[in-house]
Amino acid sequence: MFELCFTRRYSMSHRLYNIKQGKCYVPHGHNEYVKVHLVATGDDRLDGVSNMSNQFETLKKTWHGWIDNFVDHTMQLSDQDPLLSYFKENEPENLPRLMITPGDPTTEVLAACFFSKINAFLKADDINMKCVRVDVEETPTNTVVFHGDPDQAISFGDYDGPDVPWWQRADMSINDL
Ligand SMILES: [Zn+2]
Repeated sequence: MFELCFTRRYSMSHRLYNIKQGKCYVPHGHNEYVKVHLVATGDDRLDGVSNMSNQFETLKKTWHGWIDNFVDHTMQLSDQDPLLSYFKENEPENLPRLMITPGDPTTEVLAACFFSKINAFLKADDINMKCVRVDVEETPTNTVVFHGDPDQAISFGDYDGPDVPWWQRADMSINDL
């Protein structure tokens, strides 16, 4: 079995609103790397000619397009963060640049959201691959690895959004505002 991996870098800012004593309460930023690990869902025998998957290139285009144009240079906030009201009232033009997670935007929830999102893209593009692991490197000494079922990992019972939230949808969205 082959496992295909690719990595993309992006800059982001966030704050962890619910840990008021922590230094992450103050908005700040990181340059992060997201690495996705993909396996074929069916037969992954090479064709003996090109010996590579065109689907892989298609997927890379969608995924990197999303990271580069919709995730890079955004601000990640909890859906409970009062800064949201500030943006709604004073800078509504910047709302599309806010990534909103149910609860604080930790690297853990981010990794699970990325996992869900890339699998939504794969399904929509009818690509016979699935993501089995996501690594988010927040700093050179701090990486979160997620594998498993993101729907079990993300608590979004109180999340105010549609039945299918942004991380489950194969569109370019990063919030449900
Ligand atoms: Zn941070």
